Amino acid sequence: MTVLLTQNLGANDAATPAAAATHRPIEGSVHSWDLSTGVDGPGSRFVTFLSGCPLTCLYCHNPDTWRMRDGKRTPVGAIVAEAAKYTRFIEAAGGGATISGGEPLLQPVFAGELLHRLKHELGLHTALDTSGFLGVRATDALLRDVDLVLLDIKSWDRATYRKVTGRPLQPTLDFARRLADRGQDVWVRFVLVPGLTDDPGNIEGVAAFAASLGNVSRVDVLPFHKLGEAKWQALGTPFALHDTPAPTAEEVGRAKAVFASHGLTAV
Ligand code: SF4
Repeated sequence: MTVLLTQNLGANDAATPAAAATHRPIEGSVHSWDLSTGVDGPGSRFVTFLSGCPLTCLYCHNPDTWRMRDGKRTPVGAIVAEAAKYTRFIEAAGGGATISGGEPLLQPVFAGELLHRLKHELGLHTALDTSGFLGVRATDALLRDVDLVLLDIKSWDRATYRKVTGRPLQPTLDFARRLADRGQDVWVRFVLVPGLTDDPGNIEGVAAFAASLGNVSRVDVLPFHKLGEAKWQALGTPFALHDTPAPTAEEVGRAKAVFASHGLTAV
């Protein structure tokens, strides 16, 4: 996670359709941006972390993104201008731009405008990293500007999903079906947490559902880690998984095998 950089408003902010309609640049609450490779979509990517999330995942490693008011009001053009500095590098690395968070769909107008400009002004491959809980806020127009959805399905068992996230599972499943109906490319992401999400029936449920969609080109089985625990402490919030171990390589391998047994590519 990087520190949010202060940028000036791009001169062409008012030239975009949504901005022109409102006669002012579209701003959003942004935590930071960063370059990453291998974890936020294909290739090297310019990742924008938006502030605000309606979930409270027990293993969240970015709890400092939870509150929208903690982000910095930032115009879309400032982020596009920053991403433009790396376009040649990103394209050479087969990458693109990813909108993450927090939950990007908490700010759907801002996220939509940003995706549109990253895709059409800079010509970048675009990815949306989301829990799907607010999938109803993603308009078809927004989704047309998304080349890949990174969709977190944090549990199949509904009680476990609520325990992990504090929210119900159904909106995520509904969004997944909508993406499937659209034929939209999806990578499913599943965090393997010993004693929480690793029940064989739970993994089997996520795998069977993902396979039934027909548009899931990859599954990331992400081993639980505690790299974000210091952030919880800094926020004065108890980290409930302090005593939970990371899964072993064998446990991660077994989970991937379940997804593979359904014909999915699990990494
Ligand atoms: S959805 Fe992501 S940002 Fe939000 S609480 Fe869960 S892990 Fe954290």
